[in-house]
Order: sequence, then structure tokens, then C-alpha cells
Amino acid sequence: MVLLYNGKRVYTNVLDEKENKETMDRIDIAIIGGGVVGLAAASVVSERGRDVYIFEKNSSFGQETSSRNSEVIHSGIYYPEGSLKTKTCIRGNKLLYEICEKNAVPYKKTGKLIIAKDASEFGALEELFEQGKTRGLDELKMLDKADIKKLEPNIKATRAIWLPMTGIVDSHSLMRHFLLKTKSLGGDIVYNSKVSAIKKVSGGYEVVINAGTNECSTFRARIVINSAGLESDTVSALAGIKKDEYALSYCKGDYFRLARGKKLETFRLVYPISKPDDTFLGIHITPDLAGGTRLGPDAEYLEGRNIDYSVDPSKRDIFYESTKTFLPFLEKKDLSIDTSGVRPKLQKDGEGFRDFVIKHEDDAGFEGFINLIGIESPGLTAAPAIAEKVKKQVNKLI
Ligand SMILES: Cc1cc2nc3c(=O)[nH]c(=O)nc-3n(C[C@H](O)[C@H](O)[C@H](O)COP(=O)(O)OP(=O)(O)OC[C@H]3O[C@@H](n4cnc5c(N)ncnc54)[C@H](O)[C@@H]3O)c2cc1C
Repeated sequence: MVLLYNGKRVYTNVLDEKENKETMDRIDIAIIGGGVVGLAAASVVSERGRDVYIFEKNSSFGQETSSRNSEVIHSGIYYPEGSLKTKTCIRGNKLLYEICEKNAVPYKKTGKLIIAKDASEFGALEELFEQGKTRGLDELKMLDKADIKKLEPNIKATRAIWLPMTGIVDSHSLMRHFLLKTKSLGGDIVYNSKVSAIKKVSGGYEVVINAGTNECSTFRARIVINSAGLESDTVSALAGIKKDEYALSYCKGDYFRLARGKKLETFRLVYPISKPDDTFLGIHITPDLAGGTRLGPDAEYLEGRNIDYSVDPSKRDIFYESTKTFLPFLEKKDLSIDTSGVRPKLQKDGEGFRDFVIKHEDDAGFEGFINLIGIESPGLTAAPAIAEKVKKQVNKLI
């Protein structure tokens, strides 16, 4: 049976029963998940004339975490030295600005302030500043009260780290760019296609797609890249790579929108200081490219895997109390409910830092299977750098 997607023949069923010989379609690379990470990877592994398909369970790309975040191009100041989060964030920051500039993807290098409200927080601020310097972030500056007032007159803070390399990006346009680049190289995306089984076979993997009807289709791929976001641990387990350390916990982040008004106007990202190894950055102020401003996200671990993206209105008080300390003219009525997103976290509630998993699973006996698991923040920033790493691994294989 031949299935058509986007007007193209994509894959056929496994066995021609009459001839009892295999007629299954083969592709070079199957990418599972069309969020920013899968799309970025597709845009670089489609080079060299490889046959690349992204399989996405939803009816369009980037409908999950990649469109439910702060759209911040992070600096990489927060994460442990030598970690993949640090390396891919710093590299991704540079690559993202280049990609945006070259391809007319909307972005703004706003810069960011990490603020201390009083002397009790100077120690933590100094520590983070030094950490940033050791990460090679040479442009960091320490600002005093007067400097802060010049940049952000409505913010109350006594000292701040200034990070000029931080910015915001239109994540939808960025993903569309990655998809267009993939298509221009001959790759494609197949929607409404949930990967429901993966079997290791000689020379690759048999991948079963559930196409939304009763129909299941199977094809063979030499390489599988698992970029299934919140489902990346499940997809890894489908292939037989079930490790306790890959189990994801879901951690929700809610946002409130800030009313517009002269006394609430801020132009840059403003974050309260958090401890250098903090897994939650504190409720912060994030401007968006449309001229609006959001507060958040907070962090709340979910009990199970059922996701409800609605925002709990009773959180308004907590958002108000924590932001009022540095935005003194804020009133409760200035906050209205906005969106939320869910982080695919490797660290369980209360645990310490866990790094991204970017791993070719050959040592587990799964040559050609590349896992991208736990790609929470700064995954949007890091996406082009994660894609570079994936490309290196793919280039060694085919
Ligand atoms: C509240 C919040 C704020 C954040 N803020 C920032 C920020 O400001 N800056 C930053 O750099 N990062 C930020 N992040 C992190 C960033 O959003 C993510 O790291 C990034 O979007 C992850 O992209 P992804 O492609 O891995 O996952 P996703 O966007 O979740 O994409 C995975 C895709 O896989 C598909 N899929 C799943 N299972 C299957 C299957 N079996 N078959 C087929 N398809 C499947 C899903 O439908 C989905 O489209 C934030 C995250 C959250 C939650």
C-alpha cells in the first residue's frame, strides 16, 4: 500500500505477501517530533541529498513546548561549567542571531538585567557574575542603582548584572525557517503521524506510524532521531532503550500578561537573582516582539502526564507579590491570565541539576538511534547547536 502525504509518496507497507519479499520503503533518516529541536536537526541533516522525513503527531509543526515558552535567546550564564546546557546555549545564542539576521527571522537583542533588590542578594549576584565570566561571557557588566534607573526607570533594584547578549526571537518564524530550509534540501515533514512502534532490524529501524485513522504504516530508516519533547522518554522506550535516568517529569510554567501603562513599561528582560544552580529562574519580566509584556513562568511539577494548559487564576496573588518587589507601581488588576507551557524535566521535584541528553545510543547496542531527551530550557536557544551535534553524529554514520 502506498501512502501519500503532502502529495508525495512517502512509505509503503512491509510485506508484499504474494511474493513474500520485503517491499518496505526505506529512508535515510526519520526524525520523530516537529518542534524546534527536530526541525533544526532536519535542516542540517538533510544536506548531502539524504532522504529525511520528520514525523509529527499533530497537524502542524511546533504546537507543543516550542510555542509555549518565553522566546528568550539565553546567554548560558546559569548552568554548570562544561555541561551540554552551557555549551549548546552559548553556541546556540551565537548561531541563532546569525540565522535570524540572514533569514529575516524577527528577533530583538534586548539585553537582560538580573537584579538584586538589596544587599542581602549581593553575594548571590557576585557569584553569578563570576560564573558568567568563567563561562566566557566577557560582555557582562555589573550595574549600580543609577545605571539601572537609566536603562529601566520603572524597576526598583540596587544592583544588577547586565547581559547584553540576551534577546527574544519569534519562535514560530524560526521554526518555519528550519522547515523551509529542510524542504529546500529535499526533506519533508509528515503531519498527523504518531510513531507508535520502533524495532531494531539489520541496518536500521522499522518504524510504525499511526496516521490518525485505523491505518498503520511501517517503513525502514537507517537513522532515527528522537526529538519527541515531552514524549522523548516514551519514544526511546519504544525502541527498547528504557533507562531509569531518561524518565521525564513534567513541570508546568504559567504566565500572566502585564497591562500596558507608563509606570509599568520595561524594555528589557528583568529577572530576579536566583542561586547559580537553581532549576527555576524566578518569575521574571519578558517583553515580546509585539510590544506586550509577560510575567512568568513559574514552576509547578505535575502529578502525572495529563496536561491542562489552562492557567490557575488564583496564582495572580503570587505573581503580584513576587513581581511587586521590583516593579513597585504594579497593581493586581494589571495582571491577566496568559498561556502556559510544560517542561520535560529529567530532574524530579527537589533533585539537583540534570543535563540535556544528546546521545547516539550505539554503546547500548542501538547504532543509528540518536536520543534528544530532557530538552527543557534553554532548548529553544540551544536548538541550532544541538542540531550541529546531531549532524556530527549522523555524518559519522552515513
Ligand atoms: C514555560 C517554558 C518556558 C521556556 N522558555 C524558554 C526560553 O525563553 N528560551 C529557551 O531557549 N527555551 C525555553 N524553553 C524551553 C524550550 O521551549 C524547549 O526546550 C524547546 O521548545 C523544546 O523543543 P522540542 O522540539 O524538543 O520539543 P517540542 O516543541 O515539545 O516538540 C516535540 C514534538 O514531538 C511531537 N511528538 C511527540 N511524540 C511523538 C510521536 N510519538 N510521534 C510523532 N511526534 C511526536 C510533539 O507533537 C511535538 O510537536 C521554555 C520551556 C517552557 C516549558
